[in-house]
Amino acid sequence: MITFDQEDIAFANEVFSFARQHLGSNLRRKVASELRPDKAESVAWQKALWKRGWGAPAWPTQYGGCGWSLKRQYIFKRELGRAFAPDPSPFGLQMIGPVVYTFGSPEQKEQYLPSILSADTWWCQGFSEPNSGSDLASLTTQARVDGDTYVISGQKIWTSLAHWADKMFCLARTERSLKPQAGISMLVLDMHAPGVTVRPIITIDGHHHLNEVFLDNVRVPKANLIGEPGKGWTYAKFLLGNERIGIANIPRLRRRMDALRQLGAIEFGGGRPADDVSIRRAISEFEVDLVSLEQAELRALARGEENSSGIADASILKVQATELLQRGDALLARMLGARSAIMPSSESRVTSDEGAMLWGIMPALLHGRASTIYGGSNEIQRNIIASGILDANG
Ligand SMILES: Cc1cc2nc3c(=O)[nH]c(=O)nc-3n(C[C@H](O)[C@H](O)[C@H](O)COP(=O)(O)OP(=O)(O)OC[C@H]3O[C@@H](n4cnc5c(N)ncnc54)[C@H](O)[C@@H]3O)c2cc1C
Repeated sequence: MITFDQEDIAFANEVFSFARQHLGSNLRRKVASELRPDKAESVAWQKALWKRGWGAPAWPTQYGGCGWSLKRQYIFKRELGRAFAPDPSPFGLQMIGPVVYTFGSPEQKEQYLPSILSADTWWCQGFSEPNSGSDLASLTTQARVDGDTYVISGQKIWTSLAHWADKMFCLARTERSLKPQAGISMLVLDMHAPGVTVRPIITIDGHHHLNEVFLDNVRVPKANLIGEPGKGWTYAKFLLGNERIGIANIPRLRRRMDALRQLGAIEFGGGRPADDVSIRRAISEFEVDLVSLEQAELRALARGEENSSGIADASILKVQATELLQRGDALLARMLGARSAIMPSSESRVTSDEGAMLWGIMPALLHGRASTIYGGSNEIQRNIIASGILDANG
């Protein structure tokens, strides 16, 4: 069981006051209202953390990370969430960074890791294709060898923030004769290279977050192959486990809980939302489920500290957290009634902390529909959980 001592409490206070001191009020309110920080704001915040020595809590110190225990990482994330700090871009820090320091060459570590920490390079994830999402192993993007380069052709889709990215970590087929998983390799490509075309997909929340990426004979030096050829599937599975834990994002759910409580108590003219018993019950149910999710997270953390892992911990947290998020947003919208229909843009300025809470519910609710899809859909996570339990029981 995880317990918190005086040192942990002091650390939590330090993180919270650092965030309060270094986050501008506009960015803080944006996060409070679920509006998306723009690239410059995300980069500036990561730089502030990096300069403080907190650039990568989970990375080993030899690569410039903090080398913190899981407990310390948990406290750090919790306090940043409480202070309305934006989430770090996951693509470099959570996804490709750990793959590079675990499987990459010394040159790749030197080349890629420092600029992930300082946020000077923005990465995107080139896995999904028009006909390969859940069944990712069927992907058809090809990388053929030509001298000392790979030549990549194919199409990626749903590529988050590819229009901001300098580099993509990409899965491509380097061998066709083997079983599908065995012929896939992981390659790094330059998003500004000839043959790369990024086309926007505007989502229902009105944002440009997603893209299609067309790769037309893009030349990539062989030195950009991560690890060994044909091992891309192994690295991708390693990466996706980290991605799912990030998606669970329990600090975001705690903010929802606070918003539900505050909104419930606001007098709207015809009374307070929480005067309605069915709303009070729904808020209580949300809170009970959040507390049980927090306990599940702490149990997973305790197992991680002992170097063991529970059956499909990452998948369980992802499913529970994303479904709770959707419930919370739907409830907030119900409490707000017609006021929830506001569709602010990322450029909108929120002028008060209270206004922040009411502001971005509708785009958050609409974008939140995708949280049970990305990072591996919840149906697929349920398959992973079920097969994990069946395997464990023989
Ligand atoms: C907002 C957003 C951001 C994303 N960002 C990225 C990104 O940056 N990079 C990237 O590579 N990808 C990204 N994705 C893609 C994401 O990983 C895929 O959408 C996801 O893996 C599902 O694949 P699909 O969309 O092809 O759906 P499909 O695989 O076609 O699935 C359709 C439906 O069938 C269900 N289904 C499929 N197979 C099974 C099965 N075996 N058992 C039960 N049910 C099944 C699914 O759960 C789903 O409900 C993003 C997606 C979204 C929505």
